Amino acid sequence: MENIKKAIELIKDANNIVAFTGAGASTESGIPDFRTSTNSAKEASKEYPFEVLLSHSFFRENTDVFYDFYRKNMMFEGAKPNDGHKALAYLESLGKLTAVITQNIDGLHQLAGSKNVIELHGSTYRNYCVDCGKRFELSYITNSKVITPKCDQCGGIVRPDVVLYEEYLEEKNLEKATNYIRHAEVMLVVGTSLVVYPAAGLLNYYQGNKLILINKSATTFDTSASLLINGNAGEVLKAISSQI
Ligand code: NAD
Ligand code: ZN
Repeated sequence: MENIKKAIELIKDANNIVAFTGAGASTESGIPDFRTSTNSAKEASKEYPFEVLLSHSFFRENTDVFYDFYRKNMMFEGAKPNDGHKALAYLESLGKLTAVITQNIDGLHQLAGSKNVIELHGSTYRNYCVDCGKRFELSYITNSKVITPKCDQCGGIVRPDVVLYEEYLEEKNLEKATNYIRHAEVMLVVGTSLVVYPAAGLLNYYQGNKLILINKSATTFDTSASLLINGNAGEVLKAISSQI
């Protein structure tokens, strides 16, 4: 494809690439996104929209319902990085890519070997007790016999360290992400519908003219892209990185 060739040229010349990824970067690892696939997440959202189901107040008031959804649709302990995650880690190892900013909570960028990852929405791998703050690994949630895991120290509810609707993104992360994007030479946007704010708004800080957007379906940012590549993130990124 012509645009893949152009992307290869842009990336060959660049030394400060910043990637911005969303759920579409992980669908090829078997983790469904929320908006485009027909899956149980979509099914559940007919009863409660995501904005409700995944909100702070819903978590407090309907913790078991939240955890039921979360366990079925957001916890993927055995998932493996795909070619897209690996390609980004490879570009970092070459010194070309400076940061991966992700909306994903699946830890797959790090598993692929990426070192500098900014997790805007937290991670399912980190969990903590809302009462005493004790921290727990993902396996503690997986192994819990009850749907809502309880702290073994004080009995409080254990929650994932992920950002829910009605909650703020960590200021430190936002600042770091903004800084990387502001100074990026090439912006590589992968697998995100760009409808979740404030994360999507970060792209407005990009000042360059080399925005490569790789996504399966149309997004509202398509017209801002210098290069639009409609395809599977893993396949496209592999095709690009194998030529670098
Ligand atoms: P989204 O579900 O809104 O959009 C995903 C986009 O990726 C869609 O536009 C879709 O067409 C595209 N896509 C799907 N498969 C693709 C592929 N193989 N290659 C290229 N594009 C592909 O996701 P979002 O924009 O990240 O926002 C959803 C929110 O839900 C985020 O905040 C995220 O934290 C959370 N979420 C995370 C995960 C995860 O951690 N893997 C999974 C689902 C949802
Ligand atoms: Zn506790």
